[in-house]
Amino acid sequence: MEKKFGSIFVDKARSIYGNEFIPLHRPVFEGNERQYLIDCIDSNFVSSVGSKVDDFERKIAEYTGSKFAIATVNGTSALHTAAVVCGVKKNDEVITQALTFVATCNAISYIGAHPVFIDVDRDTMGLSPRSLKLFLESNAKLCRGVAINKKTGRTISACIPMHTFGLPCRAKELSDICTEWNITLIEDAAESLGSFIDGKHTGTFGTVGAISFNGNKVITTGGGGMLITDDADIAKRAKHITTTAKTPHPYEFVHDAVGYNYRLPNLNAALGCAQMEKFTEMLEIKRNLSACWEELCKNEKVSFVKEIDGHISNYWLNAIILDSAINRNDFIEYTNKQGVMTRPIWTLMSNLSMFSDCLKDDLANSLWLQDRVVNIPSSVPNGCLAKD
Ligand SMILES: *Cc1c(COP(=O)(O)O)cnc(C)c1O
Repeated sequence: MEKKFGSIFVDKARSIYGNEFIPLHRPVFEGNERQYLIDCIDSNFVSSVGSKVDDFERKIAEYTGSKFAIATVNGTSALHTAAVVCGVKKNDEVITQALTFVATCNAISYIGAHPVFIDVDRDTMGLSPRSLKLFLESNAKLCRGVAINKKTGRTISACIPMHTFGLPCRAKELSDICTEWNITLIEDAAESLGSFIDGKHTGTFGTVGAISFNGNKVITTGGGGMLITDDADIAKRAKHITTTAKTPHPYEFVHDAVGYNYRLPNLNAALGCAQMEKFTEMLEIKRNLSACWEELCKNEKVSFVKEIDGHISNYWLNAIILDSAINRNDFIEYTNKQGVMTRPIWTLMSNLSMFSDCLKDDLANSLWLQDRVVNIPSSVPNGCLAKD
């Protein structure tokens, strides 16, 4: 059966993308990218100061319905900054999912805080509110308004769920639990620009959201990231520490903290401005594509991972769930040999050497998904975007 689905799948991919090698996700530059890059070069503003950075921040704030947006060099630095400005300290515990890209845990570790891995829901592949509640009820207590892990004695200062492949997790429920426990909610929205829950953009359910514009993401600035928040103080502090904590002055160099050189260069932001002009159209094309993949899976022993009711996914990376681990590996091997890129979901963070000692719950769904989920080609096909 796996061979059969493999070849049906490859035929479909060829009919969508043609006969060349088919990557998982390629960037599309069919708008004003070239022009805006030239504008930067002609103006000499190619680095961390310039109008394109401000424009790009405004565009993302407006699109996500956030009061503030602060651009950074990549999504990892946005996450790191988010954790710092939310007050995560060395030796704190930060709850996250084991089923994520390593950057989520790296950002926590840069501070010297400890990731704690809680299971995901099978349908959203994002942090499970039920598992979070269970973990806190059996392991934590509130001491003068601070959540403390009863076994380790450490402060649980933040929770960082992730919107896997653009599918929103149950952020509202997570937000309610975090509020009850006085834990700061930071959303890793690196993969979910264009994903909404009941009309509200992902990344806006907690104190801060972090977005990535890496080359493989739904839109790209080459490398880039963004913090989004409604909190003026958090926004101010994020801007400050991502720009070397320099105090404003026309010529003196005074810095009032150990800051970071995390500001997104104007050149990269120029790409982002052009990409945003095409974004709504790109999302529509991606939605049609995902419907195509879903249709293909209908009569097979394969399920397409779909957004749940009330959620809108950007379908950044389409994902399918195969029967068993054995079928999965056959399928991946076969399709890649045919020049159609497919990839298994990440190895759980709890299985990586640097995080193997971290606290975790049973991770039952995470383990189940780890053995079955495969990402399939998800790019906007060539020449689909309307010409200007
Ligand atoms: C891409 C990604 C990041 C990091 O973004 P970079 O821009 O690559 O640093 C963080 N978290 C998740 C879940 C991601 O997919």
